[in-house]
Amino acid sequence: IEERFDAIVVGAGMAGNAAALSMARQGMKVLQLERGEYPGSKNVQGAILYADMMEKLIPEFREEAPLERHLVEQRFWMMDDRSHVGMHYRSDDFNEERPNRYTIIRAQFDKWFSSKVREAGATVLCETTVTELVRDERERIVGVRTDRRDGEIHADVVVLAEGVNGLLGTRAGLRARPTPDNVALAVKEMHFLPRETIEARFNLKGEEGVVIEAAGTISRGMTGMGFIYANKECISLGIGCLVADFQRTGQTPYGLLDQFKRHPSVLPLLAGSEVKEYSAHLIPEGGYKSIPQLYGEGWVVVGDAAQLNNAVHREGSNLAMTSGRIAAEAIGLVKSRGEPMTATNLSLYKKMLDESFVIKDLKKYKDLPPLMHTHSQNFFLTYPQLISRAMQNFVRVDGTPKVEKEKATLKSFVKARSWMGLFGDACRFARAWR
Ligand code: FAD
Repeated sequence: IEERFDAIVVGAGMAGNAAALSMARQGMKVLQLERGEYPGSKNVQGAILYADMMEKLIPEFREEAPLERHLVEQRFWMMDDRSHVGMHYRSDDFNEERPNRYTIIRAQFDKWFSSKVREAGATVLCETTVTELVRDERERIVGVRTDRRDGEIHADVVVLAEGVNGLLGTRAGLRARPTPDNVALAVKEMHFLPRETIEARFNLKGEEGVVIEAAGTISRGMTGMGFIYANKECISLGIGCLVADFQRTGQTPYGLLDQFKRHPSVLPLLAGSEVKEYSAHLIPEGGYKSIPQLYGEGWVVVGDAAQLNNAVHREGSNLAMTSGRIAAEAIGLVKSRGEPMTATNLSLYKKMLDESFVIKDLKKYKDLPPLMHTHSQNFFLTYPQLISRAMQNFVRVDGTPKVEKEKATLKSFVKARSWMGLFGDACRFARAWR
């Protein structure tokens, strides 16, 4: 390719597609490069799609996109080895005309999303790995080199949407490599079952869906969570923990997944299923404090590559789409003023992102990821066990007077953590949540 582009987008995940689509719609000449065989072939997600952020890009997506189920119920499970304490929220309000959240399968969804990017006029090249960023004599980024022959291509701006590994940006010195305490390694399986079986097991009808987010002893005292999402004809199930914790404990992700699947609360949901897919992927979980420099001379970084992931609410794709869209809008504004893509001008992207829910949410939880990591034994092992025992004590009817039961429960908490420990944990958690 010898022509010059207004923008090159590296990666065709949620962030890259949002950026490429938004820039192409503004009439910009956009080239998008994806190393996978097709968009989505390399991508892993639970996956919950957040409609609001998708709607801002493609208002009619509900009629066209390959969606699985719209969510009417969310369950939170705090698990110990034999039980779970749950909080379920289910509402018929979610059976609305324009549902708020859907389960999706990324391989199918990204392919469709990419077809919209092409329709908008962008050139999308798959099976093309960007190997290097090209700089001019003043060290500004002016294009990319790919693994194709004669693969140097120039553009006014490069949008790095290369996902959590972000090798390109780190190799070019634009940001540091994510550290093991800032990324989780997650593994996921797809369990296939007849549609009616899934609906009966999860109490669903029609296109209704349910997701379960699970934490507790399933992560063996490491910082991590599991998930179970109902699709039309399969159940996505996975678990992930911080890479630093896997290194420290010697536990393996597939070992955890195996235990999670055999948990008595999970096993009946999967009984008789056929596993057809297995995948592993990193998730950026360092939060606000791990966000790198977001722009520079001739470049911006969006999505997971910029560590924009809200681990507390299990949101990533919506932050990716929003950052991609906002970057495209900022680039469009700079271009419409006839100005060059300098760091000063591209700082508009950060200003606009700071005003959005993306940075506001990450800022709110800025102290939570380090707290969860440094106190993982308490939050992911000790408390789930204590809470489970307390619940069992509460519901089991065995002739013990209730006053004695309450005393025993309180005593078990104090014995495990001491009064000072309990007070300290509550204060630390409240401060970090604020
Ligand atoms: P990606 O989707 O990873 O896309 C990056 C793309 O860049 C890939 O297609 C890759 O092939 C390509 N690429 C990389 N390097 C190059 C290169 N050098 N040249 C060319 N192409 C390149 N988020 C949610 O919102 N809801 C969920 O339910 C959810 N569940 C998750 C469950 C799991 C197990 C995992 C791992 C993540 C989950 N996430 C979830 C997070 C979500 O998947 C990510 O936040 C989102 O995919 C980020 O989008 P992205 O475009 O930044 O990166």
